[in-house]
Amino acid sequence: MTARILVVDDIPANVKLLEVRLLAEYFEVLKASSGPEAIETCETSKVDVILLDVMMPDMDGFEVCRRLKSDPATSHIPIVMITALDQVTDRVRGLEAGADDFLTKPVNDLQLMTRVKSLVRLKMLTDELRLRAATTRNIGIEELLGRNFPSQEESPKVLLVDERRASFERIQAMLRGSVELDVATDPHAGFFQAADSNYECVMISTGFADFDPLRLCSQLRSLDRTRFLPIILVADAGEEDRVIRGLELGINDYLVRPIDPHELTARLRTQVRRKRYNDQLRASVTQTIEMAVTDPLTGLHNRRYLDSHLQTLFDRAVARRRPLSVMITDLDRFKSVNDTYGHDGGDDVLKEFARRLRQNVRGIDLACRFGGEEFVIVMPDTDGPVAEKVAERIRAEVAHLPFAVGKDGKSIEVTVSVGVSSLLKGADSVEALMKRADLALYEAKSGGRNRVVAKAA
Ligand code: GH3
Ligand code: MG
Ligand code: MG
Repeated sequence: MTARILVVDDIPANVKLLEVRLLAEYFEVLKASSGPEAIETCETSKVDVILLDVMMPDMDGFEVCRRLKSDPATSHIPIVMITALDQVTDRVRGLEAGADDFLTKPVNDLQLMTRVKSLVRLKMLTDELRLRAATTRNIGIEELLGRNFPSQEESPKVLLVDERRASFERIQAMLRGSVELDVATDPHAGFFQAADSNYECVMISTGFADFDPLRLCSQLRSLDRTRFLPIILVADAGEEDRVIRGLELGINDYLVRPIDPHELTARLRTQVRRKRYNDQLRASVTQTIEMAVTDPLTGLHNRRYLDSHLQTLFDRAVARRRPLSVMITDLDRFKSVNDTYGHDGGDDVLKEFARRLRQNVRGIDLACRFGGEEFVIVMPDTDGPVAEKVAERIRAEVAHLPFAVGKDGKSIEVTVSVGVSSLLKGADSVEALMKRADLALYEAKSGGRNRVVAKAA
């Protein structure tokens, strides 16, 4: 993982100190010695994480943070405030100014790397989402992608695994009102609870009398359902080695007692945000794939899906010596429906036709909107005579029951013509099969419409 970190501090020695440590971890380092310089750097180059000193002359860290967070062009860059150890008010002010996290001077190496890496991962996810939103905007599915995005404001659902009453009660008190917190006092029960509910983060205390907390970390990492669940380890001072082993096992962050309530909130927020972005990305990928093969008007598969799938069904039928049939349907004189009832009226008919189609084919049949008012149904394991019966049933279903158009209860007679073709025993191909169905459809049209024609060969 490599990323560009901007270090902002008015004292060159401080900048140098952080730079050396970040370079050792192969991060790219940018430097700024004042607030205005930092803002300019963010505007002109790509920055992944900002380490921002609070105390600077002219413009202090809070002001820099506020400005960067209020500009849409820079608001997504994670900011870590570097505060003095004894300045609790600074941390509060930093979080109020929109900072994502903070570190206290002198900056501990392990903390620096854990926070920076955690925020870099978060930034990569937001970048990916922003990019996706930008590219999907063009094809109009941005709104759809947005629909499932959970609000980042919703309070996080968190599980705390901790058997010491004094400890978990303190954490409960700190998070009351901002986090939906459950407590599991038994680590084994906690494991199942984490696996069975949809928590957004698990906090594991290291203070068990008779249980190795890292065991729980590794169990959560190996189970499919909890593999991506963020874990924060709550360690005691002096447990550095344990924390390092935890990080190797895949925990996402850690806290050291005594817990600072602001730090706790900031760490939790980062982990939960990351999880939400991750979930959104995964959902948007699934949705994008579904949308790419679905016709939005009817919900049936689209032509692209048919083109990629028909060959597979064809090959399978040939290999297994099983029958396969195809039908192409085309609504009769559909142009006049549009001319009389408008395009929306026509759309109503198409939707209702698709519904009837779906009702009259089996689950294994592949029904697609081929384009306009033409639909194709691929029927595996179905020979010509049976396919013809199915086609006839669909034709009758359309002709016998009028279609409702518009909102004022008007209904109209609709008919459909259908061409059917079936896989031949000898040499055959997808193209020839489709061609025969198309010729059959043409015959149905020229023969007077509202009819089924099947091409045996
Ligand atoms: P035929 O019986 O020969 O099939 O006559 P037709 O009028 O159905 O045939 P034609 O192919 O000339 O016209 C099809 C019409 O379908 C033209 C087009 O405006 C309309 N159409 C295509 N796609 C859509 C759509 O998504 N919605 C609506 N409402 N109409 C569509
Ligand atoms: Mg047509
Ligand atoms: Mg037509």
